[in-house]
Amino acid sequence: MEKPKDGKEKRQWGGRRAGAGRKATSGNVATIGLRIPADVEEILSRQENRTAFIIEAIREHYKRKRTHNIMNKEQLQDRCRGSLVGGAVGDALGYEVEFMTLPAILKRFGKHGISDYVLDKIGIAEFSDDTQMSLFTAEGLLTAIAAGKIYGKDILPYITEAYKNWYLTQCYPPYIKSRSWLSDIKTLWVRRAPGTTCMSALRSLSGPGNPTVVNNSKGCGGVMRVAPIGIFSAAHPETLDLEHCGLLAGQAAEITHKHPLSTFSSMAHAMIVAECPAHDKIDREMFRFIVIDRVFKLLELHFKDDRHLSLLTNLINRALTLAESEKSDTEAISVLGEGWVAEETLAIALFSVMRYIDDFEKCVCCAVNHDGDSDSTGAVAGNISGAILGYSAIPEKYLANLELHDVILSVADDVAGISAKEQMTERYVKHPE
Ligand SMILES: [Mg+2]
Repeated sequence: MEKPKDGKEKRQWGGRRAGAGRKATSGNVATIGLRIPADVEEILSRQENRTAFIIEAIREHYKRKRTHNIMNKEQLQDRCRGSLVGGAVGDALGYEVEFMTLPAILKRFGKHGISDYVLDKIGIAEFSDDTQMSLFTAEGLLTAIAAGKIYGKDILPYITEAYKNWYLTQCYPPYIKSRSWLSDIKTLWVRRAPGTTCMSALRSLSGPGNPTVVNNSKGCGGVMRVAPIGIFSAAHPETLDLEHCGLLAGQAAEITHKHPLSTFSSMAHAMIVAECPAHDKIDREMFRFIVIDRVFKLLELHFKDDRHLSLLTNLINRALTLAESEKSDTEAISVLGEGWVAEETLAIALFSVMRYIDDFEKCVCCAVNHDGDSDSTGAVAGNISGAILGYSAIPEKYLANLELHDVILSVADDVAGISAKEQMTERYVKHPE
């Protein structure tokens, strides 16, 4: 893992950086860098030009646009299932080759690399800690919502508790029933190469007193587990709008990983997942718009002076440009890194999604066949491609043997708000008894 040279900078969501209350000029708007939609311009022409008003008007425009674009319950369910199951598929495919070099992968699986699961002794495609922790993110979030918590600062302790429950499953303790409904699933009590930063941070948090986590890690253990927050935002934009979705995802990653590049990458991942289901058809041009003009412009709006964000923005721009270049998949990915750190994980995933914008299988295969952290790049690419194309676009061969397929589908429906109330109560209110 690359050790960052610098420390964490204090960052705030909104406040002075948002420019609220300052007199606006056309220069302010140019600095913010947002495209002003036509209907907002029309409203502006009738209002006093204040930056705060401009920002609010643009937010309202996009909020309306997202809500209008969600066509029906079936489409929403398909995209939400697609994102969570898609992540598990990419994770399961990549888990087999996580610690293999590209030449070793090609030698074992042929010139196109791995494209089918390697099943265990009982015919199951095992996923890794990426999917385990994503499921626990969903559990923490939904338990908080069930308890009536709607603000990020109130939701976060529930996500922390869920991660501590996951940590317990990794410690080879005696199986403890009824800590939470996910903890009651015995097949989750297994180690699948958990990240050292996640383990050490949660070991500290599980200790006595009021422990704090101190590190400067930007390993991909944060970014690979936040998709459920994006899915929840996609389904409930009135409860968790895009900006607060990003904030909560960044904070959820910061429970274990403290480096700003982990935080920003996690924010961007969740916000992209949140935004994609709102669009019927996403081509490359639309995807670039969502990533750069929507998500990264919103991040720049709040953190525009943060050099870590500039580094991430530059890398993501490079990834999207490479996706439309003549370079081969492996050539391009080698330019972006190996995916062991958060920003590289996100960059490789976004490259794969952009290059194979309408093909889930090619996208995840591209994301896992390289020298680096294949399960995490596969998981993040699968989360995003699934949110774009839906569960219905995932080939049957990736669904048939996927570990805990029914549980993942069920959690996706819970996050999307589609499950029956009785089920939600049973899982997220009554547990632990
Ligand atoms: Mg993993």
